[in-house]
Amino acid sequence: MQDIIDRVRSYAPDADVRVLTSAYALAAQAHKGQVRKTGGDYIEHPLAVAAMLADIRMDLETIATGLLHDALEDHPMPPQDMVAAVGPVITSLVTGVTKIGKLQFRSKEVASAENFRKLMLAMSRDPRVLLVKLADRLHNMSTLDGHRRDKQIEIARETMDVFVPFANRLGLGQWRAELEDHCIAVLEPEATAEVRTWLDATQPDRAAYIERTTDALRETMAADGIPCEVIGRAKHVAGIVRKMAAKGQSIERLPDLLAFRVIVADRDACYLALARVHGAYSAVEGRLKDYIGHPKPNGYQSIHTTIVGPEGRRVEIQIRSQEMDRLAEAGIAAHWRYKEGRLAVSVEEIGRVSRLRELIEAAQGASDAGEFRELVRAELGGGDDVIVETPKGDLRRLPIGATVLDYAYAIHTELGHRCQGARVNGRYVSIRHELHTGDVCEVVTDREQRPSRDWEAVARTERARAKIRKFLRDQESEALQRIGRDMLEAELRRLGWSLERAHQEERIAAYLADHRQKDLEALLLEVATGHTPPSIVARAIVPESAPAPESAFARFVGRLRPKPRSSSPVRISRNDDIAVRFARCCQPVPGEAVVGYVTLHTGITVHRAGCAQLQQAEADRLLEVVWVEEGGASRQSVDLRVTGDNRKGLLAAITGAVEAHGLDIEHLNTDDTRGPHAVIRLRVAVRDATELARLDDALKRIQGVEVVQRVGG
Ligand code: MN
Repeated sequence: MQDIIDRVRSYAPDADVRVLTSAYALAAQAHKGQVRKTGGDYIEHPLAVAAMLADIRMDLETIATGLLHDALEDHPMPPQDMVAAVGPVITSLVTGVTKIGKLQFRSKEVASAENFRKLMLAMSRDPRVLLVKLADRLHNMSTLDGHRRDKQIEIARETMDVFVPFANRLGLGQWRAELEDHCIAVLEPEATAEVRTWLDATQPDRAAYIERTTDALRETMAADGIPCEVIGRAKHVAGIVRKMAAKGQSIERLPDLLAFRVIVADRDACYLALARVHGAYSAVEGRLKDYIGHPKPNGYQSIHTTIVGPEGRRVEIQIRSQEMDRLAEAGIAAHWRYKEGRLAVSVEEIGRVSRLRELIEAAQGASDAGEFRELVRAELGGGDDVIVETPKGDLRRLPIGATVLDYAYAIHTELGHRCQGARVNGRYVSIRHELHTGDVCEVVTDREQRPSRDWEAVARTERARAKIRKFLRDQESEALQRIGRDMLEAELRRLGWSLERAHQEERIAAYLADHRQKDLEALLLEVATGHTPPSIVARAIVPESAPAPESAFARFVGRLRPKPRSSSPVRISRNDDIAVRFARCCQPVPGEAVVGYVTLHTGITVHRAGCAQLQQAEADRLLEVVWVEEGGASRQSVDLRVTGDNRKGLLAAITGAVEAHGLDIEHLNTDDTRGPHAVIRLRVAVRDATELARLDDALKRIQGVEVVQRVGG
């Protein structure tokens, strides 16, 4: 009990905790001599429930209700005794919890729909009732061992079907994850055991990696003066089991099982932090989700992105403010605030949990259990389909709970995008209207209509949601392109250029071709999301500023550090299954000192250690790579530029030297041959640096050859 009081004092120093001690005394008296199925005094259970409620910083009345929630159950005490001890509010809360406690949700029949409706009605009178019930269920789930196996399964199913969705709706992220983990351990024992074993086995490696990455992220933020807290951990067991099932893959093959949370001061800092993370690491495309700009229906806010983290491991990063973090953990409970010495929450704040409000309204409005059942079935994911008729008499099958919007998208994507409502059985209804079997539905469109973020909640089918999301994503990428354009334009301006001039002088087209970019839009997107620094693009576009100092081949050869090699020529430190390609700018060959550079689309590009391109690279994206093993069969192409006296026979001497070394010439051309000097460009395929050095030596010994240079310095 003292522990609970200490927890309360930590967030409400002035709270008058006498009501807690009275509630505890009453509960202790009510449960005197009772023993739990798992052994131990019964009072331990209400104490644990109250402690959980204190953890999410609930008000005193709710915590007192937690202490007393079972006191009216088995050995009913006269309610007036309770009123006398703790007052009418707590007594009515306890009565509410006791009433819901009697509801059974163990079959998805009509009766359960009616129970669900009663639960919603109890919740609408005072949402704190449901929070106590959830804490009660969470503690019961953690002590399931006392039950028979079939009973455990029954309770776990009910929890998964009813209480997990509620915890989710209420935004109680932490409780939801814990409830799910308990359920999955009962419902999927093998998969759970596999995940737990793997998590245990990989624990030391993971802990070390989390520490290194946490430090790295903290330093990245500190460098920009963004104060933050970084927490890293493996995803929860149920989440991993679900992923395994969804992808049909063993746990070893699943990417990004680690999540790092970067908690900053406020909303603006979140976006700054995102920019820094994307600047320092390569982001995995399509994984950026801005739940700050577009909160989830339960109010959850965060920016999610997946990056190729330190050592090439994929990790998810969640960026949020302290307030958002509290909301993510405690959901609706985060809205309670101290007002005049007590905690209070307003009806509007509850209303923010919008999908819950719909359920409450539906529960209040439903005239009978049957009507409410369909909504419940849709919410709980069970039930049959509804069959709706088009004006032409075609039949469409939709899941129960499907709205007019789902129907429109089911017919045609454009019809969905332009959907404004519908005439159902001749009556005009909104896009939110739920369809029933036998309805005749004609979609009403408007040319000005566009999907918006809240349509995702209106749509109940994954098909419609996916189309809405795609539309919004495309729109978002247009906005990002505009940002990328501004960034690039600014860099070009610094160099005295403009995008318009770059277009006119066909420098853009040249850049795109050189860098194998699909189009300008793709490039602008990369610039906006921090994958390609605009300064590098601008310098490559403006000819005078292009950094292409061609250092002499000989100087390069002096730096060589021959190493063993193999047919899969390079090994990336600590990680083997990443796509590797060789940079065209410097054409590294086995045996040379090389460095890996992480890029968005192509994985890792291997450059020579001295490559000029790397001088602009961000240090965070560089990876240590080494050549492995001797005797590889693969050959790498190398471009050479030979300058010499323009004499007859020079070309023949050069090709002869190449052939004498057993090498193939892949490409050969000569520049202007009328002057005193000849410039010969040739591309040869070599096995390694030693072979290349021998060739270089032989070429230089040819009479009249002055300089042998390697392209890329
Ligand atoms: Mn209980």
